[in-house]
Amino acid sequence: MAKDLRTYLAQLSETYPNQLKVVDKEVDRKWEITAFVEKLRRDPGYPEFPAILFTNVKGSELPVLINLCASYERLALSIDATVANMVEVYGTREASGVPPVEVKRSEAPVKEVIWTGDQIDLSKLPIVWHNELDSGYYVDAGPCIVRDPDSGKINAGIYRHEMQNNKELGFMPNPAHHGSFVLRRMRELGKPMEVAIVVGHHPVFPMAGVSKLAGIGGELLAAGGLLGEPLEVVPAETVDLPVPARAEIVIEGIVDTNLDAMREEGPFGEYPRYYTGIGPMPYVKITAITMRKDAIYQTIFNAHVEHTCLGALPRMGSVYRRVREVIPTVTGVNLPVSGMGRGHAYISLHKHHDGEPKQVAFAAFGVDPLIKHVFVVDDDVDVFDENEVLWCMCTRFQADRDLSIIPYAMGGHLSPNNYDIDRDERSKDRHKKHLETKMILDMTKPAPPTFFPPRCSVPEDVVEAVNLEALQDYKGLPEVVKS
Ligand code: MN
Repeated sequence: MAKDLRTYLAQLSETYPNQLKVVDKEVDRKWEITAFVEKLRRDPGYPEFPAILFTNVKGSELPVLINLCASYERLALSIDATVANMVEVYGTREASGVPPVEVKRSEAPVKEVIWTGDQIDLSKLPIVWHNELDSGYYVDAGPCIVRDPDSGKINAGIYRHEMQNNKELGFMPNPAHHGSFVLRRMRELGKPMEVAIVVGHHPVFPMAGVSKLAGIGGELLAAGGLLGEPLEVVPAETVDLPVPARAEIVIEGIVDTNLDAMREEGPFGEYPRYYTGIGPMPYVKITAITMRKDAIYQTIFNAHVEHTCLGALPRMGSVYRRVREVIPTVTGVNLPVSGMGRGHAYISLHKHHDGEPKQVAFAAFGVDPLIKHVFVVDDDVDVFDENEVLWCMCTRFQADRDLSIIPYAMGGHLSPNNYDIDRDERSKDRHKKHLETKMILDMTKPAPPTFFPPRCSVPEDVVEAVNLEALQDYKGLPEVVKS
């Protein structure tokens, strides 16, 4: 059977039984589901920080799955990798581009239930209110499929979708997201934009939506590459788009691209872990909802561990792959939790020439506008060891020579201190601002032949040969010392 959310849940519970739990007790979808996850995070008794399936959600027949993507172990498992090699495996698989395959409607579980017209009612889905000051209930684990009118290519990206009413959802991509490029192009053409929002699938599907692929489109192929098999698709009911046949739920709709067709949207707990983004945004008029008869509604805990992990691994894989296309001697990429899996990039390089670290940073900025600070280190450093990275900042970096600052650059429009061109950061205006100041820290040693002292260590072969079983308990000073 082709891979989907259910095959992954079976694989997960078999491989790591403690990483998937069920709650049958009735819960409220306003705050209680996320409060449960937050309490779990604080409890040292649950180091696996499991995914949870809530089977009894007040006001809905459907169960809610949350926290599935909140661990690198689980995300690595989904691409048959380990945490140690997941970045390289992600980059390789993402690029292998397996085209989707169309299956018959009768073989598409997502067509088991179809709501159109008066049947469309978002209040029947267990859409979750996550953080206290979110403006309401958000669909936030739904890669949104659109078609580029110029190339015909299919693009998918994860945007937040505020529940506006029972038949309408918000639509809020970053200005640099491909979804925004398609929206602006449809506006120029004076046409509406068709969308299909996919809720619940194998974890590689949302990860493909986060991937930083070159150009608009390609996410369905990347998903196939990540799965190691073609993604099964089927035509949507009311829009001219392919949708995953084995998804749990698909929400189809139309965005009026006219600049007057806007709704107030936000705030929402965002990846920087602040409530950001508020103001008028386009919205989706829902034309159909299709689902499995026993659909699982998946949500991502925003501004929390899951938001960071799901945003980080695909970016790391893409940045690793695409920066190596420019500088093949890059050896590692980490987007650490300290930068919410986005803002900080730790990149290691087998350096041959001075100046290469800046080229590395320029390439990284080009791949993802959310990267704000690039820290380049030599390849003797493990980029997943933050202490080692910051040790290089202390011992291989001089701020007057090795620091470069680039103001007024394209950044994330949801960062709390980003600015407009007039640079009025104290403005009470809380609308989305996307400019930020980039920083490059060249923390590498000077290129040879310039002398730089070697780092300290004992010979590795001697360490290897040591047998720790020689250790004994201390029972007072030995005779040889007393005499
Ligand atoms: Mn894209």
